[in-house]
Amino acid sequence: MYNIKAIEVKPSITLELSSKAKKLKSEGKEIIDLTVGEPNFKTPDYIIKGAFEGIEKGFTKYTPTSGILELKAEIVKKLKSFNKLDYDISNILISTGAKQCLFNAIYSIVNEDDEVIIPSPYWVSYTEMVRLAGGKSIIVETSKKNDFKIRTKDLDENLTNKSKVLILNNPNNPTGSVYTKSELVEIGNWAVRNNIIIIADEIYERLTYDNEHVSIASLSEEIKNKTITISGFSKTYAMTGWRLGYCVANKDIIKIMNAIQSHTTACANSIAQYAGYVALRDESKYYDTKNMIDEFNKRRKKSVDYISKNSNLNINFPKGAFYIFINISPLKGKSISGKILNSSIDISETLLEEFNLAVVPGIGFGNDDYIRISYAADEKLIIDGIKRIIQLEKSVQ
Ligand code: PMP
Ligand code: GLU
Repeated sequence: MYNIKAIEVKPSITLELSSKAKKLKSEGKEIIDLTVGEPNFKTPDYIIKGAFEGIEKGFTKYTPTSGILELKAEIVKKLKSFNKLDYDISNILISTGAKQCLFNAIYSIVNEDDEVIIPSPYWVSYTEMVRLAGGKSIIVETSKKNDFKIRTKDLDENLTNKSKVLILNNPNNPTGSVYTKSELVEIGNWAVRNNIIIIADEIYERLTYDNEHVSIASLSEEIKNKTITISGFSKTYAMTGWRLGYCVANKDIIKIMNAIQSHTTACANSIAQYAGYVALRDESKYYDTKNMIDEFNKRRKKSVDYISKNSNLNINFPKGAFYIFINISPLKGKSISGKILNSSIDISETLLEEFNLAVVPGIGFGNDDYIRISYAADEKLIIDGIKRIIQLEKSVQ
């Protein structure tokens, strides 16, 4: 009766759990919610004022599907200065969040049975988007030993004559791993050699704490020609609900994505686009991303420190984004209140039901030995949340 591919799509576990935590809170439960990757800062005032300015100036109608010129021009400048990427406005498509950019990109490239290589752990939506496009996700395991980063050796082992795309999320959600320039050169050259398109999800580009972010497309003309780079406003400007993202790529692929978008959502919200334009235009006057990065870095250090001093659970030391991936495998097979903890879902459910802490089970990201917490939340809540995980660790038998 229904579309077979659609029936198989699993809802986003991150969004689902975040809604569940919100519902429990609204019912009066004292839940600490470390599920969703959403900065707990307010959208900066100058951007909010920008939205009002946009409304007053009449940016309340359909815009061209690909977005308003003002915003594209600012993105061109930002790409040059931050990403070291030379593109012009015809290489840009503005969409309803980076999520729509990813969907447009995958849908534009992937034919039935084409293979999409997805390094695991991976962000929850990639596999479901590939499913909707009729492609096949090839999940390639990475290891903690290698900081959960994919190597060309792993890619070679999974290359077939159906391989079409590699999705590279850098910095990574959920592991917090960040690729170095030389690692990216190797991966980029591998893609060029094997005629693979790279979808570079760089939504966390501003959130690197130890090294500067490198955009893979900036590493050579050949790599650039094979790469679709995706970013957005959700994380950097605390604008998750405004739904504004963009992608840059060669003009041919932008044209196809533009056509798809013109029949689905059409343009991104016109007011959000104008606000995004102001966000970039006036950033140097009113917004210091360094303050935001420093704040996340402080929380990262405190959380990691607290865990390593008070718990025997291992983590993957995060170098970017705002998540900590915690290895809960020592708790598996143990029991609490008569319930045996067999999986990351069991452990997340127990944390929620018995300790009032909402986290995301690693299985949603392809790894059942972990849970993910987000440190985009208030610092005290993060530490209290970690204390609850440690309480569980001490209570299991
Ligand atoms: N990619 C990754 C890795 C993410 O974690 C997210 C979630 N914010 C997105 C893309 C989508 O972001 P947006 O809010 O711009 O749709
Ligand atoms: N990307 C964020 C996360 O992983 C937001 C939720 C979502 O878009 O799935 O928590």
